[in-house]
Amino acid sequence: MFRRLAAVGAPPLLLMLGTLLLVHYHSWLFHILWDGRLPDVWRPFLFYLPVMLAAVGVVLGIRLRSCGVLLVMLTLGAVLGMGRPFGDAVPESFGGIHWLAQRGFLLMPVNYLLGLWTVRHAWRSRRGLWALTGAAGWAGVVAVGAAGGPAAAAIRQMTGWLPALPTELKVLTTLGMGPLMAVIAAVCLAWHAVRAHDPIAAGLSASLVLLLPSIARDLNDISLAIVASAAVLVVLVGVLESMVALAYRDGLTGLPGRRGLNDKLRQLGWRYAIAMLDVDHFKRFNDRFGHRTGDDVLKMIAARMQQIPGGRAFRYGGEEFAVVFTGRAALKAADRMETFRATLARTPFVVRGVSRSTKKARGRKTSGVASRQRVKITVSVGVAVPGTGGRKAPEVLAAADKALYRAKKAGRNRVVA
Ligand code: GH3
Ligand code: MG
Ligand code: MG
Repeated sequence: MFRRLAAVGAPPLLLMLGTLLLVHYHSWLFHILWDGRLPDVWRPFLFYLPVMLAAVGVVLGIRLRSCGVLLVMLTLGAVLGMGRPFGDAVPESFGGIHWLAQRGFLLMPVNYLLGLWTVRHAWRSRRGLWALTGAAGWAGVVAVGAAGGPAAAAIRQMTGWLPALPTELKVLTTLGMGPLMAVIAAVCLAWHAVRAHDPIAAGLSASLVLLLPSIARDLNDISLAIVASAAVLVVLVGVLESMVALAYRDGLTGLPGRRGLNDKLRQLGWRYAIAMLDVDHFKRFNDRFGHRTGDDVLKMIAARMQQIPGGRAFRYGGEEFAVVFTGRAALKAADRMETFRATLARTPFVVRGVSRSTKKARGRKTSGVASRQRVKITVSVGVAVPGTGGRKAPEVLAAADKALYRAKKAGRNRVVA
C-alpha cells in the first residue's frame, strides 16, 4: 500500500512539501536573492503566474482532447483570476484567492470530480457534454448564491440539511460548506489515485489540499500566489505523469511496453539475460472463449510475470512478453522462467461464463460451455545471455526469440535456453 502510494503520489507530494517549505521560508529566500524584499518588477508576474499556468493547462487540455483537463484548468483559471482587475501593474491584494476562500471551494471539488470523470473523453462526447453542462449549472448556482437576493436565500434553504447533522459533525461545518466539500473530495481523489494508480487524481487531490490554507487569511499575498501557482502546477504534473505512463505503459496489462523495453536494452551492463515468452495456441483460445477472455488471460499472465524474482517484465506485443534479468539474477534466468512456466501450467485459468465476442465463438457450438470452465494455459519461453562473444542487447533479444521458436518447434510449454 505504501509503495503504491509512493509510486503514484510522489511527484504531487514532493511538490506540495516544496511549496509549503517555500511559503514558510520565502522571506529568507528573498533575503538571499533580493535583500529582503521581492522586487516590484516581479510582483505582477508572481500574482498572474497561477492564471498563466492555468492557461497552459487549457492549451494542454485542448491538445489532448481531454474534456477533464480543460474543465479543471478553466475552473482554476476562472477561480484564481476572479476578482482581480487585469492590467493593474501591482495588484493591491491577491483577490482571486480570497474569492476562492469564500466561494471557489464550492466550485472546485465538484468540477475536479467531473474533470476526473472526463479526463479521457473529448468535450464533444456525450460524457463530456454532460460534465460541462453539470459544471456550468453548478457554477450558476454558486454565482447566484454569491450574488445574494431572494434566489440566494432559496439556495441557502436548500442546504438547510446542514443543521440536522449530529453535533460531532457540526464541528466540521464550522469550516464552511466549501472547504468541507474540498476535504471530502480530496480524500476521495487520493483514494482513487492509489486504487486505480491514477496520477491525475493524485494531482487533483494535492491541488485541493494545497488550496486549503488559503482559507487562513493570515497568509500574505506572496504566500497565496505561491500556493495558487503550485495548486495549478500539481495538476499539470499529474497530467504530464499520465502522459508518460501512456507512452510507456501498455494499457491492457499495465506492464511497460516496447518503448520501455528498448530503453532498458540501452541501459544494460555486461551481465544480463533476456527471456522471450509467447502464449501457446492463443489464437485457438481466443476463437473458443472470445477476445475479452483472452485479454483476461494476458492480464493474469502479466500480473504473475511481475512476481518473477530479479526479472523485469515487458509486453513485447500481442501475446508476447519479454523479461530482462540483470546482475546476479541473470545467472538464474532460465531456472526462474522454468519455475514460472511450470507454475502457470499447473494453475488452470477459470473461464467465467461464455464470451460471445467473436464471430467464430458464436458460430461454433460453444454456447453450451459450462459457466465456469478450467482451462490450462501454457507458455513457451526462449532465454539468451550475451555470452563471451560480446553480443549487443538487440542481438541477445533476437537470440532469445530464436530460442523461443525452438521451444515452439519442440512441442511448446517449455523453456529453451
Ligand atoms: P503459438 O502457440 O504458435 O504461439 O500459437 P498462437 O495461436 O498463440 O500464435 P499466433 O502468433 O499465430 O497468434 C497470436 C494470437 O494472439 C493472435 C491474436 O488473436 C492473439 N492476440 C494478440 N494480441 C492480443 C490481445 O491483446 N488480446 C487478445 N485477446 N488476443 C490477442
Ligand atoms: Mg505470437
Ligand atoms: Mg502464441
